[in-house]
Order: sequence, then C-alpha cells, then structure tokens
Amino acid sequence: MGKATGFKEFERELPAKIVPAERVKNYNEFVGNYPEEELNRQSARCMNCGIPFCHSGCPLGNIIPEFNDAVYNGKWEEAYQILSSTNNFPEFTGRICPAPCESACVLGINRPPVAIEEIEKHIIEIAFAKGFVKPLKPLLRSGKTVAVIGSGPAGLAAAVQLNKAGHLVKVFERDDLPGGLLRYGIPDFKLEKSVLDRRINLMEEEGIEFICNTEVGKDQDMSEFKKSFDAVILATGSTIPRDLKIPGRELSGVYFAMDFLKQQNKRNKNISFFEDEILATHKDVIVIGGGDTGSDCVGTSNRQNASSVKQFELMVQPPQERNEFMPWPNYPMILKTTSSHEEGCERFWGINTRAFLGDENGALKSILVSDVSWEIDPLGRPVKFQEVEGSEREIPCQLILLAMGFVYPQHSGLLQNLEIALDERGNVKAVEGDYSTNIPKVFAAGDIRRGQSLVVWAISEGREAARKVDEFLVGSSILETKDRVPNMQMNQ
Ligand SMILES: Cc1cc2nc3c(=O)[nH]c(=O)nc-3n(C[C@H](O)[C@H](O)[C@H](O)COP(=O)(O)OP(=O)(O)OC[C@H]3O[C@@H](n4cnc5c(N)ncnc54)[C@H](O)[C@@H]3O)c2cc1C
Ligand code: SF4
Repeated sequence: MGKATGFKEFERELPAKIVPAERVKNYNEFVGNYPEEELNRQSARCMNCGIPFCHSGCPLGNIIPEFNDAVYNGKWEEAYQILSSTNNFPEFTGRICPAPCESACVLGINRPPVAIEEIEKHIIEIAFAKGFVKPLKPLLRSGKTVAVIGSGPAGLAAAVQLNKAGHLVKVFERDDLPGGLLRYGIPDFKLEKSVLDRRINLMEEEGIEFICNTEVGKDQDMSEFKKSFDAVILATGSTIPRDLKIPGRELSGVYFAMDFLKQQNKRNKNISFFEDEILATHKDVIVIGGGDTGSDCVGTSNRQNASSVKQFELMVQPPQERNEFMPWPNYPMILKTTSSHEEGCERFWGINTRAFLGDENGALKSILVSDVSWEIDPLGRPVKFQEVEGSEREIPCQLILLAMGFVYPQHSGLLQNLEIALDERGNVKAVEGDYSTNIPKVFAAGDIRRGQSLVVWAISEGREAARKVDEFLVGSSILETKDRVPNMQMNQ
C-alpha cells in the first residue's frame, strides 16, 4: 500500500478539460493529464482494501490496488505489467469506460472513489512513452489457424490472446479499417483514432493479419470458409439499430445515430463515403434516446454547429444519487451528465414521440410529442407509462437522430449462412463461460453474444473466448483468465 493515510489527506481530482466553448471547435480529445505529483496523490488514495471490491467490479478483473501501489512508488514498468496482465487495451478503457470499478470502490461508500480510470490511462500512456509496450511475439507457432470475424474490441482482444498462444490469426472486417465501434461509432473527441491505429500497428507487428473490406458470409459458402481454419470466432457486434416506426419515419431528416456518427469519423480522416451527407449544421436537432450513443450525437451536433440540440428520453429521469434500489457496490443507474451534455443540450425525460411531420417536399419540419407518466413497481422500476392528457405538442426541428440502442446482430448473411442458433433475444447463442455455438469449431464473443454492451465487456469476452478456443485447439491453455494470471515467456 502506497500511503496509509492517503485516502484521508487527498481529495479526488480529475485532470483539467479544455472548456466547452473551445473544445467544440474541433474533434480532438480534450481531457488533459495529471501533473506527476497529482497522479501520485490520486494513487495514494487507494486503501489497498482487504477485499478490493474494485477488482470484482471490473469485468476484466483488473488488479487495481497493486497497480495503484506501483504508481505511488513510481514503478511504471511494474504498473504496466500488472495492468496489461488483465487488460489488452487500457488505452481504450482508460478513456471511455463507464468505470464499474469506481462504482464498486470501497472508498466510494462515503467519499468520492479512487480515480481508477484516469490512473489506468496514465499508466498505459506512460508505458508507451517510455517504450515498455512492445509487440508480443510468441516463441513458438502452434501450426493452428484461427479466423476472427469482426474487428471491434472483442475481436481484437481475442486476436491478441490467440496470437500470443502461438496460433496464426486472421481478422476479417467488412469496413475499410479495423476497430469496430471504436473506429466508426465512438467519436474522436472521446477516443482519437491515432490511439487505435497505434494498437493495430502493434498487433500487425505481432503477426496478426487484418483483412478489411470483406463481409464474411455475404454470398459466401461458409463451409468452405470454415474448412480453411481450425477455429472461427464470431465477433461482429450488435449492429441492428432499434427503429421508431411511427408516421413520418420516411421523411428526409430522420436518421439512425450510427449513420450520422460514422460519417463524421470518416470526415475527420478524409475518408470518402457514398451515402448522402447527414449534417447538423444550422439545424435544430433532436436526439431520441438518452444513452451513450445519444450523448455522442449531442457532442457531434455541437461540433457541427447545430442551431439547437435537444435530447428526448422516454424513461423517467434517473435519481441524482444512489437510492435503496441500487446500493453500493452495484453499478448505480443514476443521472449521468456527460462532457457532451456540458457542451450544450436541453434534456427532457418522459417524452413519447408520436409522429415526425414534414413539409410538401418530404423534408422533416417538426416532431409531435407528448409527456408520459410512469407507474413504478415496488423495486423502483418503471413498468408502464401513460400519456399525460393535453400534453401533445409540436416542436420544430430539421434533424432527428434515432439513438435508441441496438436490438441484435445482423442475421442475414453470415449468421444465416452458418445456421447459427440464436437466443430468445436474437443474439448468438453461445454457452455461458464457454463461448461455443451450435456449430462445431465456431465460437462467439462480445456484443454479438451478450447484446449491446460496453467496450470493457467486449475485451473481457474476447479474452475469455480466446482461452476456450486455445483449449479446443491444443487441449489446455496458457492464457490468462480473470482469475489466473500465469507468467508467460514471450519474445519482446
Ligand atoms: C455510438 C456508440 C458509443 C459508444 N460508447 C461507448 C463508450 O463510451 N464506452 C463503452 O464502454 N462502450 C461504448 N459503446 C459500446 C461499445 O462500443 C460496444 O459494446 C463494443 O464496441 C462491442 O464490441 P464488439 O467487438 O462486440 O463489436 P463491434 O465494436 O460492434 O465490432 C463489430 C465489427 O464487426 C464487423 N462486422 C460485422 N459483420 C461482419 C461480417 N460479416 N464480416 C466482417 N466483419 C463484420 C463490423 O463492421 C464491426 O467492425 C458505444 C457504442 C456506440 C454505438
Ligand atoms: S476498492 Fe478502491 S480503495 Fe479499495 S483497493 Fe480498490 S481502488 Fe483501492
């Protein structure tokens, strides 16, 4: 433990951010770094708990008190080794994770929790700067080949792990560049793509091959594809967006959030696209859906210089603080105000959208909404709503972005050709903790299996599935699991 009294002496501090008026002028990241003495103080707040709840709160099982101690003592290489033993991509989670570890931190019972996510980001960035992060090439090749389909965080994590175990890994991606939603969903102001490219380059140096612009299973005989590999991991995400099929849905001006966000990430890299441009510039924008995707649409609309931005959510406004229904150490479903909200947005809860209204040219001119009131069950869950009489109103707008989540993975093409079994929600059915599907030698990991989730869960699933594939290929596995982190000899 770094400093026994650190948690009493120091307050939680986060690095300074560029002010909203300045940061909306571009798409760059805007969160600064701790000065070294502040990083030291923040790590000193860790109490090295007998039962570190942070550790179990993290889907990767990150060994948090140990890396906090190493940071406190300035042992950067040790901190990096500890962190990278459980997390292949701390540079992603250190930037965009909602940090369930912090919600579970014991200090959080009566004080602000340890700033674990920021400490994580600093460890990995310092490790890159000091040259500790090197391509991990296996000493021996097994002679086995694995196809990973989909290059989001689940596919990338599975690829790193399987390559480390000695198998030859090819990653197939239908987009022009690898990364999944890290590349073409999450805006650059949350995760600059140079951070992703740095990791992809490293993976290529390790011997992983990326094959982009290739939609596996589209007009393709999958039995031939399967024959070319000893194992296949499906990691194609949950990509079918939830729609709002109400009158006026066909109007020009009503789009899915992902179509809007993907275009901006492409524009930032000067990558051309063939679809009609979707831009918020000088428009009154309404984002429907109160989650992360919606918030990313808010931040992007403000950067595109929208005239106004509103965000509508059907559910009730969450509480500001934990209540009796979400006690520590559970992840609290409390009101989240993101950096994008700070940049300018009016937020409304309990709003039902009834219709989109257009002008004579078929262009969106307004939205028809009404307020709803929710019936809450004894466990605090909203179960049924009814419209508030007389609350119907029309609100002018020229752009609607639908950000109501994703229902399941794309079934046409790959999954139908493979004749993969689905679960009752339409996700790929794979045995919990085993990741195998109904098709021999085909495994599944990430959002395709668990439904729309988080980057940290995708990495965790990719790692765990890789271990199961390794066991399937060679009978046992040297790869780490959440519960066991063996020493591995690697060529650096
Ligand atoms: C806008 C947005 C913002 C988000 N923000 C956050 C956040 O801040 N923090 C967080 O933790 N999570 C966030 N998430 C969720 C997170 O991005 C996902 O949970 C995570 O990316 C899922 O990883 P995955 O590898 O399972 O799938 P994905 O990242 O979806 O990757 C799947 C990949 O498979 C490819 N693919 C699909 N079909 C085929 C095929 N047949 N052949 C070849 N390739 C194929 C796709 O093109 C895609 O690249 C966000 C999601 C969205 C949409
Ligand atoms: S729960 Fe919080 S204080 Fe305790 S070990 Fe984990 S990070 Fe440190």
